[in-house]
Amino acid sequence: MSDEATNLPYESTSENLKYPPAEKCIFCNKKIEEIGGSRIIAQKLRGVILSTKPQSGGKKDTPRQSYKLDDKTDRYVVVWGEKELWTASAIERARNEFLSKHSPWYCQICGARKCSKCNSPINYPMGSDILDEDGYSSHCAIFPVNPGCSNKECEEYKEWKTHQKDS
Ligand SMILES: [Zn+2]
Ligand SMILES: [Zn+2]
Repeated sequence: MSDEATNLPYESTSENLKYPPAEKCIFCNKKIEEIGGSRIIAQKLRGVILSTKPQSGGKKDTPRQSYKLDDKTDRYVVVWGEKELWTASAIERARNEFLSKHSPWYCQICGARKCSKCNSPINYPMGSDILDEDGYSSHCAIFPVNPGCSNKECEEYKEWKTHQKDS
């Protein structure tokens, strides 16, 4: 099976998986329809991936941790981010999602891409790798503009044209 090269900036995403998203946010257990915004899999500060190499290190408060996926394959669930988020049960949920061929993800609220006024997702989760319905991921670059809030009731609301795709 030939996969096209991944465009993820995180070297750690060594497996080019196309697993569809898990049903719920790995941290707050809500569906994307309840929250809005995008599904995030990786940011500089936090993320969850499957890798062929175990990884460790990182900062003390946001350590990188690796857990073997199963006994049959040499693959590792690698997570990084705040220790409060990556509880033992969150890590176990991530592992189970990968085992059932789903990609764990987290929402923009848990990933700190939310409006400072109303806590709704902002229009564009800058500096995040996001996951679409088909299991493809893409990177949202950091812009020097405020993307605004997605909540029409909010004073920070901005109309946001769907991010144009290059294809
Ligand atoms: Zn969440
Ligand atoms: Zn808002």
